[in-house]
Amino acid sequence: MTDATNTSTPLKLFNSLTREIEPFQPVHRGEARVYTCGPTVYNYPHIGNMRAYVFADILGRTLSHNGFDLTHIINITDVGHLTDDADAGEDKMEKMAAEKAQSIWDIAQHYTQAYWADVKALNIRQPAKWSVATDYIEEMIAFANGIADKHCYECETGLYFDVTTVEDYGRLARAVTEDGEGRIDTVKGKRNAADFAIWRKTPPGEKRQMEWDSPWGRGAPGWHLECSVMGEKLLGFPFDIHTGGIDHREIHHPNEIAQNQAFCGCGGLSDARNSGANIWMHNNFLVERSGKMSKSSGEFLRLQLLIDKGYHPLAYRMMCLQAHYRSELEFSWEGLEAALTRLKRMVMVAERLADAPSQPVAEHPKFAGPLAKFEEAMSDDLGTPLALTALEDALATKKVDAGIKRAVVEHMDAVLGLGLFDLTRADLRIRPKSAKITEGEIEDALAQRKAARAEKDFAASDAIRDDLAAKGVDVMDGDPLGWEWKLS
Ligand code: AMP
Ligand code: ZN
Repeated sequence: MTDATNTSTPLKLFNSLTREIEPFQPVHRGEARVYTCGPTVYNYPHIGNMRAYVFADILGRTLSHNGFDLTHIINITDVGHLTDDADAGEDKMEKMAAEKAQSIWDIAQHYTQAYWADVKALNIRQPAKWSVATDYIEEMIAFANGIADKHCYECETGLYFDVTTVEDYGRLARAVTEDGEGRIDTVKGKRNAADFAIWRKTPPGEKRQMEWDSPWGRGAPGWHLECSVMGEKLLGFPFDIHTGGIDHREIHHPNEIAQNQAFCGCGGLSDARNSGANIWMHNNFLVERSGKMSKSSGEFLRLQLLIDKGYHPLAYRMMCLQAHYRSELEFSWEGLEAALTRLKRMVMVAERLADAPSQPVAEHPKFAGPLAKFEEAMSDDLGTPLALTALEDALATKKVDAGIKRAVVEHMDAVLGLGLFDLTRADLRIRPKSAKITEGEIEDALAQRKAARAEKDFAASDAIRDDLAAKGVDVMDGDPLGWEWKLS
């Protein structure tokens, strides 16, 4: 039975495990427990990575909005993630630390802070806990010990999970996961292509920056182990929802699920609870044609790059919300510009409501339509594109009490997280890093131009406009959005 108290529309979500849209039924009455696979902090996140957290944030906000008491965990991966998800290559953290000649701990610290800055800039709410993988090594060893006898075998390089020891291995994945000719060759003694490391021994004669003693020798945990362990420790099996990007649906999550099945007593996946979570949700990718998303490309698409080019980070949040989380989203600068304009229009109306004392969302016939549309959209597997149009319907509603309108907009924005009442249009106009003129200089020039026009000195006014144009500033007389200038 659902406990939704805030809305009358029951929440339905797409479960990647059953491949069906299902009503959300909490494991614990009135609660929602969510685990999100967090970043591997070996580099800056790209904006595609941040799409995964905007999605998880929208899910969390929707659960809160529906009256559930939310416990959201996002982990920070600071150990174990190899350059190839399927157990090949080097540890991403070790590799970056070696390249930069820095300690792994410093690398982790630096990129965790950078990730948190993006989280804040995108209005992603703080989870109940950021769980850091290296804080759970002892628990990981205990978990592995508990399943080792029945499900694992040791070979030269470490302790491996035998995927044939659980039912329905790989049911979550869409691609064929056992095509791993290459994968089996990479590890001597592996029994099945899809078997994966639970513990990776430090090769004899080598020393890793991060290594711990274990019953299987000195080494480091396999990447998948951490999420099983932190999920179980912090939320208990089964918890409600596990999230990540679609790449995780293929390897990381099937492996996590196999470990969880082993821990829970091996039941098959026709009962989702044996997977450790009732619902598995995955956001589709943000794609970019020229390859700028790849962290190995020089100027990759970080949120800071968008800001440096003059785009407010919340324009990117808007861009994410304009697509359904299960659809691929193509990044383009034109698309980002359009998202920014849409946000500006919303902020312009919100600015006019700023002084109205907010009132409880009262029954008001003029808002019944937009509110119902909004609830229906969000309850239907987080339909943010339609929910945005409901918000626009509310913003465009005329001849209504400003306090009620403000309340309705706030009510919707609490779910969408655009922070409309914390923004001004001036906040949204960011000077690109490359601009050769300061905002103060622009404002001074515009004031002089106004004075010239007041004196009907059109030659002087045109000269000022041309001078600004030469410096990359377009003067926008009569702009319907009320902007006096923009940087071209
Ligand atoms: P990582 O730090 O590589 O573990 O990735 C962090 C999160 O970003 C994971 O949930 C990934 O599935 C997700 N992700 C990676 N690339 C993209 C992308 N281009 N678009 C959306 N999500 C992505
Ligand atoms: Zn994970």
